[in-house]
Amino acid sequence: MSNYQTILLATDLSDEGEQVAQKAAAIATAENAALHMIHVIEPLSFAYGGDIPMDFSGIQDEIQSQAEAQIAEFAAKYALPKENQHIVIGRAENEIHSLAEALNADLVVVGSHGRHGIALLLGSTANGVLHGATCDVLAVRVGES
Ligand code: AMP
Repeated sequence: MSNYQTILLATDLSDEGEQVAQKAAAIATAENAALHMIHVIEPLSFAYGGDIPMDFSGIQDEIQSQAEAQIAEFAAKYALPKENQHIVIGRAENEIHSLAEALNADLVVVGSHGRHGIALLLGSTANGVLHGATCDVLAVRVGES
């Protein structure tokens, strides 16, 4: 079995995301693999666009700059260069799949909340990433047991 060469960590930039990042970084070190991080920002217009007649572009720019600062702080802990930090706007699972394919990643690492049943066990994003992924997916359990 060959080693992983390119690992994509999907992060929501939360405290829980830290546990997931630590696992991904440990695997990357053990496998001598490149580690990339992605954080996806869902456009406000997806949630509110149809209902509120408002220009969201200023708020969206602010969210993007905050996310860039946060991912840089996150990435610094693992000495990840800027080109391995990806902030993308769209639907999380779609963008994670697209970037995994573009990078030719052989492992995607996500967090999952272990509560009840398979749907909740995987959580919505983790579930979406698993289905349709063209490479291995590691779901790291986070949060309450
Ligand atoms: P959730 O389904 O929202 O509980 O999230 C589960 C996991 O999906 C997180 O631990 C992350 O690995 C990933 N994830 C959730 N939201 C995002 C996001 N906006 N960008 C990238 N990854 C995400």
